[in-house]
Amino acid sequence: MTDLSQLAHQPKVVIIGLGVVGAALADELTLRGMGRVTVFDQGPLYETGGSSSHAPGFVFQTTPNRTMSLLARRTMDKLDGQSLGDQWLVKRAGGLEIATTPARMHDLHRRWGLATAWGIPARVVDPEEAGRLWPGLDTGAVLGALHTPTDGIVKSVAAVRWQAERAIDRGARIVPSTRVTAIRRSGGRVQGVEVVPVPRGDAEPEFVAADIVISAGGLWGPGIARDLLGFELPMVPMEHGFGWSRPVPGLVGKISPLTEMVRPMLRHQDFSLYLREYADRIGIGAYNHRPMPLEPEQIASADEFAATGVHPAIHPLTWADFEPTWDEARRLLPELRGVDFDEGFNGIFSFTPDGGPMLGPVPGADGLWLAQAVWVTQSAGVAQVVADWIVRDDPGVDTHGLEYTRFDPAVVSHRFSVERASQAYDEVYDVVHPHDPTNRLRGLRTSPFYPRQVELGAVFEEANGWERPTWYEANAHLVASLGVVPRRDDWSGRNWSPIAAAEAHATRNGVALYDMSALSRLEVSGPGATQLLNRVASGNIDRTIGSVVYTLLLDHNGGVLSDVTITRLDDEQYMLGTNGHLDKVWLESQLAAGSGVRIRDLAGGEAVIGLWGPRARDVLASLTTDDVSHEGLRYFRAKRIRIAGAAALALRVSYVGELGWELYLSADNGLYVWDRLWEAGQAHGIVAGGRRAFNALRLEKGYRSFGTDMTREHSPEEAGVAFAVRQRLACLTLDDPGAVVLGNEPVFVPGGAAAVGYVTSADQGYSVGCSIAYAWLPPELAEPGTSLEIAYFAERYPATVRAEPLFDPEGTHIRR
Ligand SMILES: Cc1cc2nc3c(=O)[nH]c(=O)nc-3n(C[C@H](O)[C@H](O)[C@H](O)COP(=O)(O)OP(=O)(O)OC[C@H]3O[C@@H](n4cnc5c(N)ncnc54)[C@H](O)[C@@H]3O)c2cc1C
Repeated sequence: MTDLSQLAHQPKVVIIGLGVVGAALADELTLRGMGRVTVFDQGPLYETGGSSSHAPGFVFQTTPNRTMSLLARRTMDKLDGQSLGDQWLVKRAGGLEIATTPARMHDLHRRWGLATAWGIPARVVDPEEAGRLWPGLDTGAVLGALHTPTDGIVKSVAAVRWQAERAIDRGARIVPSTRVTAIRRSGGRVQGVEVVPVPRGDAEPEFVAADIVISAGGLWGPGIARDLLGFELPMVPMEHGFGWSRPVPGLVGKISPLTEMVRPMLRHQDFSLYLREYADRIGIGAYNHRPMPLEPEQIASADEFAATGVHPAIHPLTWADFEPTWDEARRLLPELRGVDFDEGFNGIFSFTPDGGPMLGPVPGADGLWLAQAVWVTQSAGVAQVVADWIVRDDPGVDTHGLEYTRFDPAVVSHRFSVERASQAYDEVYDVVHPHDPTNRLRGLRTSPFYPRQVELGAVFEEANGWERPTWYEANAHLVASLGVVPRRDDWSGRNWSPIAAAEAHATRNGVALYDMSALSRLEVSGPGATQLLNRVASGNIDRTIGSVVYTLLLDHNGGVLSDVTITRLDDEQYMLGTNGHLDKVWLESQLAAGSGVRIRDLAGGEAVIGLWGPRARDVLASLTTDDVSHEGLRYFRAKRIRIAGAAALALRVSYVGELGWELYLSADNGLYVWDRLWEAGQAHGIVAGGRRAFNALRLEKGYRSFGTDMTREHSPEEAGVAFAVRQRLACLTLDDPGAVVLGNEPVFVPGGAAAVGYVTSADQGYSVGCSIAYAWLPPELAEPGTSLEIAYFAERYPATVRAEPLFDPEGTHIRR
């Protein structure tokens, strides 16, 4: 982070790259008063040769990620109504996503729910209406469609130019045909960049000083990270087929080149294709081909571009990959049937493991920022966020899915990037369930308990590289004894099993072991550790050794950056349970220069067991001579104990709301301790519990999950800690206890047309016999007793706001 107030002069900013992102950044930074902005691009103006020079600019604003949808809306709102001479920048022709399979049709209702939850107008239409909206569409195979009238096209080259010219008017310098070859850093600060002309000839690099350098190098991003910054960035340039028909007789003379299109953009996700009109031709994009990842060396250099005129972001079309898409497009549009294919190319743009961008400050290099892996769709919105972040130190939105440091160095590798980005390419138009596990690079991290979990028939999901059990088939026999077996519809029942209910029941009534090893945790130690943590945490952590404090990390505006559990191990030694690598990066950014505080990642060398349930003490006490009575180890206290001879740090905490401990073990003792607890637990009916049971139990207790229930956009008051201002996180139960939603659904007042809020977390509460949904709502609707509706696909589920927590509000179970 750059403390701009410390500079004696107005900050000098260098932006690497003049694609849609670099241009939007120059515009937004100058708009915020940064007058000394220079943009270098290795290519010529304004078709620099990057992805933005070739993007057909489809903007479908609806995604499962709320922030990404918001950034898409911001992009459209900024550019809508603007023009460059005769050229419009945005045309809200609307988007029409058709379904040709029942599964897709069903999913369009979910996408309608997402759009509605994020405030994007949308409606599901029948085949006839789809045919009216897209005259000429063969609706024979169409089951219906989602129409989003405010979606549209962004003309990316025009958007680059328009934004760059606005920046120039405010004093920015745009320097084409100049390549950045090095980023100089010294003493933890960025100093500037070295540039050479293109073509280089025998020119020596010239140094250009800068206080802030932002890499907006698009598909060159991984190369810039590797060669100029020295780290692996999990983004991968991919080839993607796009082509045009020859003129369609029915269109010739009907649509002027300036108007370009009248019918909506069409998306046919069952065949992973999209298309639109280009005056009298149809342009078609194909995701229905093998992923084609590229290495940085496979992208033409700026000098080659200068010599050949061939844009680096395009490779020749591989017809075998594209042909099935062309055939399908002709099947869908009878007007194309007598028309030949004209020309096409494999365009290149970036994919990331989770589809999110690579933004944010570079740790350890004050003043250095990334703004990469951004689509045209989010480009102007992203630039606003990054500009706010730099100028005001406040991005204004939830950034935990945007910051590139969300990826843990423990998992990031070239192989990880290529495998996961290829999966992201494959799935771009798939119906992806929110709990679908990745099938790539599995088994990277396993806890010592893994062999036992396999023996117990664990069904695993992946979490930050870890194999994490969701439920255990060995517990299937317990389901019958539950009485009423919860049932779910196909969607909410995917990646779920009624065994989760049995494991939750066993936790509430007996005792269960949970593998918590995937939990991120840090050791913060050394002189100044107490001072640091007391400064960054919302609660007082300067308590006696052995105390455990649940507290929040807040940004300087009071937004929630994370919720953490801080255990004091010694005067200046703490263990933190965190929410991921971002927390470590943020804590490190808070260290003063020369600080003696050390921050160490503990997850790799440790294993953690959650031992919870009313019989948990019976099990633990039988294996230790240490005092684990209620008085001997009180709630929210930690103690070093021995379990059957093995050293453990026992924390009397419980995210499931039952008596018990988190037991922190050295990895070499892990399996031994699991086995001893398992043996001792037999007399008490011990079971292993998975993530699904865990989630249901924590919801019953009203424990918030950071990143889902609350984010940086929310203040602690809004998140439910005190009285609210704009919105409140409220607990709802569905009036039909058998109905289940999964999160991200819109909430309505009964019969209402406009959404009043959206669901964050949801699950069945097996002990309380309710289906629970936490949702952000206006304060007046967050009062217990309020009747509301949650839209789930095409249905509306009546729901009621409840006082929370639903389970054990006095907390007697935990304090047994
Ligand atoms: C065929 C195709 C279809 C697409 N369809 C869509 C779509 O429908 N909707 C959508 O939203 N997105 C789409 N995209 C993606 C979109 O085009 C890109 O994500 C977006 O344009 C990236 O913008 P950018 O500014 O980050 O990168 P770019 O446009 O690639 O710009 C990066 C710039 O950095 C410069 N540069 C790199 N390294 C250096 C250096 N060392 N020194 C100086 N300059 C440097 C390059 O010359 C380049 O101009 C598509 C892309 C392609 C290729």
